[in-house]
Amino acid sequence: MNADTIFAVASGAGHAAIAVMRLSGPECHVILAALCGRIPAPRRASLRRLHDDEGAELDRAMVVWLPGPGSYTGEDAAEFYLHGGRAVLSGVADALVRLGARPAEPGEFTRRAFLNGRMDLTECEAVHDLVAAETEAQRRQALRQLDGALGSLYRVWADRLRLLLAQQEALIDFPDEELPPEVEAQVVEEMRALRSEIAAHLDDNRRGERLRDGLVFAVTGAPNVGKSSLVNALAERDVAIVSATPGTTRDALETRVVLGGVPVTLVDTAGLRDTTDQIEAEGVRRARARAAAADLVIEVVETDAPENHASVCVANKLDLGRPVPAGAIGVSALTGEGLATLRDRLAAAARSLTESSGPPPLTQARHRSALHETAARLAGAQEADLPELRAEDLRLALRAVGRITGSVGVEDILDTLFARFCIGK
Ligand code: GDP
Repeated sequence: MNADTIFAVASGAGHAAIAVMRLSGPECHVILAALCGRIPAPRRASLRRLHDDEGAELDRAMVVWLPGPGSYTGEDAAEFYLHGGRAVLSGVADALVRLGARPAEPGEFTRRAFLNGRMDLTECEAVHDLVAAETEAQRRQALRQLDGALGSLYRVWADRLRLLLAQQEALIDFPDEELPPEVEAQVVEEMRALRSEIAAHLDDNRRGERLRDGLVFAVTGAPNVGKSSLVNALAERDVAIVSATPGTTRDALETRVVLGGVPVTLVDTAGLRDTTDQIEAEGVRRARARAAAADLVIEVVETDAPENHASVCVANKLDLGRPVPAGAIGVSALTGEGLATLRDRLAAAARSLTESSGPPPLTQARHRSALHETAARLAGAQEADLPELRAEDLRLALRAVGRITGSVGVEDILDTLFARFCIGK
């Protein structure tokens, strides 16, 4: 249990009408009584005058008393809806410190929720993702994970591995005649089935991770075809530098847009042409690398046919009245003609790269690497020629999958995991 009582402003920084201050820990009740006199009824918003230890009035605020273990952290907790002024916040913070509380570290409330068994690690990560969600699709994915969809999937696999391990240990401990002969066959079949389910989950085209991290669309094409103008037009603001001289867009320029509910970074590559200018050559090299790693390539041409097999080909400068090559979407970055069609086409691509039906998708590199390890240990178990070695591999597989939800050995990753969180979350 945590001996410290912690506090933090949970609402955003900056001037606001109301600011939410959270308090959690064993001294909550005592601190609340000192600060606002009468303790409000549990889970009922009550108006209170807050005073410091010398009797000076700090604020009139709505206060909610949230006794554990039914609170967010699982501890005794309270929330104050303070007037958002800096003097109010610093006055209340000073009073809380004098009463024995200390400022919370990033993610400390959620970390306590995890340590007190209120959430598993995938749910904690979902809290972080929900706070960071910029688009509707990201929000939906985070909420689903917060509901425990991903955690349940991994817990079912852990349960199945636990059963496998128990059966395998029985195979070691009991002489053949005491065990039904089908146990060995069951173990072999279940190892195969589990490994193939995990492999299918891993082989999801990174949909969940792509949605969480956002997509990268590279905009390629010869110098002066209008790549920067097109990125500007799609972003509806002037971010890329438009120039009439070929090759001046030397470095890849990045613009964030939302397409089909998915955050997308448009990378405006430098003119992809061979050049003797060293700086320009470096720009070309980077652009090629970025385009090669992109989730989708938008190739911009004028009248010539598309050069490589890009996912989306755009014929720009439609306003000049030249023919649109077959398979290309005709647009004019100058007049805006055709841009709606292009935007729809890109939104559909963004959705199809991230949408998933059926079981919840993998969302984090941390889960992916743990599942790779689980699958590798299962493969080891399948190939093991001694019963004891098979049991050991199954034990390691169970441990790897258990680390995802945090049911085993995760002390070493908690600091890194929660350091990314906001203070107050
Ligand atoms: P980039 O080198 O491919 O990034 O091309 P820019 O966006 O810098 O555009 C090159 C030139 O083409 C500039 O002079 C633009 O004003 C012009 N341009 C871009 N889009 C259009 C368009 O749709 N129609 C016309 N007529 N000119 C355009």
